[in-house]
Amino acid sequence: MITIASIAALKAALKQAKDKGQSIGFVPTMGALHEGHLELMRRAKKENGLLVVSIFVNPIQFNNKEDLDKYPRVPEADSKLLESVNCDILFAPEVEEMYPEPDTSDYDFGALGGVMEGAFRPGHFNGVAIVVRKLFEITEPDKAYFGEKDFQQLAIIQQLVKMLNLPVQIVPCAIVREADGLAMSSRNMRLTVEERRVAPKIFQILTKAVSLKNVLSPAEMRHWVWEQLSAEKAFRLDYVEISDDRLLQPVEHWNDAPGAVIFIALFLGQVRLIDNMRIF
Ligand code: AMP
Repeated sequence: MITIASIAALKAALKQAKDKGQSIGFVPTMGALHEGHLELMRRAKKENGLLVVSIFVNPIQFNNKEDLDKYPRVPEADSKLLESVNCDILFAPEVEEMYPEPDTSDYDFGALGGVMEGAFRPGHFNGVAIVVRKLFEITEPDKAYFGEKDFQQLAIIQQLVKMLNLPVQIVPCAIVREADGLAMSSRNMRLTVEERRVAPKIFQILTKAVSLKNVLSPAEMRHWVWEQLSAEKAFRLDYVEISDDRLLQPVEHWNDAPGAVIFIALFLGQVRLIDNMRIF
């Protein structure tokens, strides 16, 4: 694996690979890698000639300075994990390299951008869109891999690619969970032992809720999940939503949407966790 920090050097390395006819599989991350990231990378490696991973903690997608400051950074451990999945190129730029000037682009994702994470983290998806567009333009990947853990982010990226006619195929990848059901996340390492013990209740409650889909209406299911999560004192809820799987708008009747997903966001201590589970 070669590690590259400059855009010019990355472009030169990629040109060589492209001249040889190798396809490029790209996995953008913010580091503190775990098995969820590695699954995306294994798939990207299998489906392409060259695996390119970026690690960049993108300051402009954080709407909370403390979250940015405390975001885990473990470059040595990350490099070892990247070697284990035979990553070819790690692109790890500094902030100044990605933003020599502030990027003032202002994207409008319409209804999709206004709900859930869009509502609770103002500016977050604009920051994501700016960095992902830059990374796509620098890397020019054939395929880029994104996790359904960040379901709304994935939908935003798919919309961005369509809006701008970007020549890249977006590949959605299933959520990877710990043995006890907790969705893997770089932020999990900030949980205390006691918080970590409580965290799998999210998965348990979502699983039970989905099993009740034939007896509860969407509103009843949403209410049930809200009550169950609220009963756990350690959780401070941001939202529980049951939404269609395209524009992520609230579902009133199960028949209204071909696909429905339940979404939650909550604080456990200082750590904000999100999760989702498909209902239909
Ligand atoms: P992040 O480093 O958190 O920005 O995540 C980088 C990519 O990995 C995003 O596409 C995430 O959706 C994906 N990802 C993170 N956690 C998981 C997980 N538990 N399962 C599947 N994909 C994940």
